[in-house]
Amino acid sequence: MQRISHWVNNKVVAGTSGNTGKVYNPATGEQQSEVDLASIAEVDAVIAAAKKAGLEWRSSNLSRRAEIMFRFRELVVANKNELANVLSLEHGKVPSDAMGEISRGIENVEFACGIPALLKGGYSEQASSGVDVYSIRQPLGVVAGITPFNFPAMVPMWMFANAIMCGNTFVLKPSEKDPSAPMFIAELLRQAGLPDGVFNVVHGDKIAVDRILSHPDIASVSFVGSTPIAKYVYETGTKNGKRVQALGGAKNHMLVLPDADLDMAADAAVSAAFGSAGERCMAISVVLAVDTIADELVEKLKTRVPKIKVGPGTDPTAEMGPLITREHRDKVASYITNANGEGANVVIDGTDKAKDAGFFLNPSLIDKVKPGMKCYDEEIFGPVLTVMRVKSYQEGLDTINSNQFGNGTAIFTRDGGVARQFQFDVQVGMVGINVPIPVPVSYYSFGGWKASLFGDQHMYGPEGINFFTRGKVVTSRWPDPRTSSVNLGFPQNR
Ligand code: NAD
Repeated sequence: MQRISHWVNNKVVAGTSGNTGKVYNPATGEQQSEVDLASIAEVDAVIAAAKKAGLEWRSSNLSRRAEIMFRFRELVVANKNELANVLSLEHGKVPSDAMGEISRGIENVEFACGIPALLKGGYSEQASSGVDVYSIRQPLGVVAGITPFNFPAMVPMWMFANAIMCGNTFVLKPSEKDPSAPMFIAELLRQAGLPDGVFNVVHGDKIAVDRILSHPDIASVSFVGSTPIAKYVYETGTKNGKRVQALGGAKNHMLVLPDADLDMAADAAVSAAFGSAGERCMAISVVLAVDTIADELVEKLKTRVPKIKVGPGTDPTAEMGPLITREHRDKVASYITNANGEGANVVIDGTDKAKDAGFFLNPSLIDKVKPGMKCYDEEIFGPVLTVMRVKSYQEGLDTINSNQFGNGTAIFTRDGGVARQFQFDVQVGMVGINVPIPVPVSYYSFGGWKASLFGDQHMYGPEGINFFTRGKVVTSRWPDPRTSSVNLGFPQNR
């Protein structure tokens, strides 16, 4: 059985804890490898390697860092088919989805290549007589990333590209469900010339996470995952004096107004709900259909959903792959099975597919959902699109704003004024106007509101640079004996 071990000082390091996790091929349901799960001592050793590497790395010049990042970008592009294959084998992504993940990850690498411009500070000459003031941004030290199963390549790239280019050294604790993509990336970083210890991977479970959250040499923690763990990571990490950004779960609504192009809205809803089998934090989970067009829209969805081709990542024509584990597949199926009993209307039931080998479901469509039903109140994170009927724009907006999550949302309309009002009023971090998955490009930052993000800095882009650096302001004067005197007053400019 293939074994996946840690990555420290640019080498694979076998685990010694004796604990391992099982890694499956979700398309067959078979275990294909085991992953080492680190002990506290092993986590400590990885952090020590990152700390040692940090002494030299933070002194490296910006051009050298950028050169390495440019080379890494070229290596990812050259190896993207192989990386996509790694993603398919452990996550189950179909080729188009795996390629999409890699290409959105590369964007973050490209942003980080601009590090010399991004780390520029401010300078004020003659802030007082003979006194200049300037600001600089410096790295934090050893920073950690803890990532979810659903984007095993892209989400680490959201974090480490900016972190290491800002002069930090990085410890990644990826999802133990699909741990190979980070190892593939680590090897490419080595080939790009990244020095030993600057990027490390420690595999593990709660033991490793808890050690990262309490270790005195960890300066910051970037987390992406489910809301209960995000909250735990934020509270524990900040209590231990660390800077934390913790992105959580989602329930994304798409509000369709009567004036929208309904075919375009139906295409968008189906693409955004079932891409990656709905295992995306930006997936559309609920369509809010204004009553007058609800029947027509549901009909349009009903004709599109059964056409989705479900299959393994090895099938180049497959559009939707399996779910990550058997347990998760069964949990998703339970929302569909229980929905009729809760008063909703299951229009298309995809649970039959659960009988096949592998962790598959077919896409499902549930109409007439309401708050109070489990399939509405909870994050499903699977191939299930629900429809809630609302009387008006206002009821749709109020529904979105009363939801506990605030990650992404979209409005479909031809009315620019209403769309602008929606963007102004909606309490959600990422908003699409006739765009169903508004994941910001890498030079903006990614993050939700409410229970979708704990912390005050969003991920990547300009906020990523802020997160991975801290400011210093220098006030300087060069000796001029003519102005030297004793003065006990507080320094002032006038
Ligand atoms: P998860 O919360 O189960 O796991 C995320 C990470 O936390 C993993 O590395 C895991 O090992 C670790 N972890 C799990 N349980 C833990 C515990 N009890 N204590 C300490 N650490 C623990 O999430 P997942 O199932 O891997 O990913 C799916 C979730 O991630 C969904 O809720 C999805 O919405 C969310 N997500 C959010 C975003 C975002 O940007 N907001 C992006 C992707 C995924």
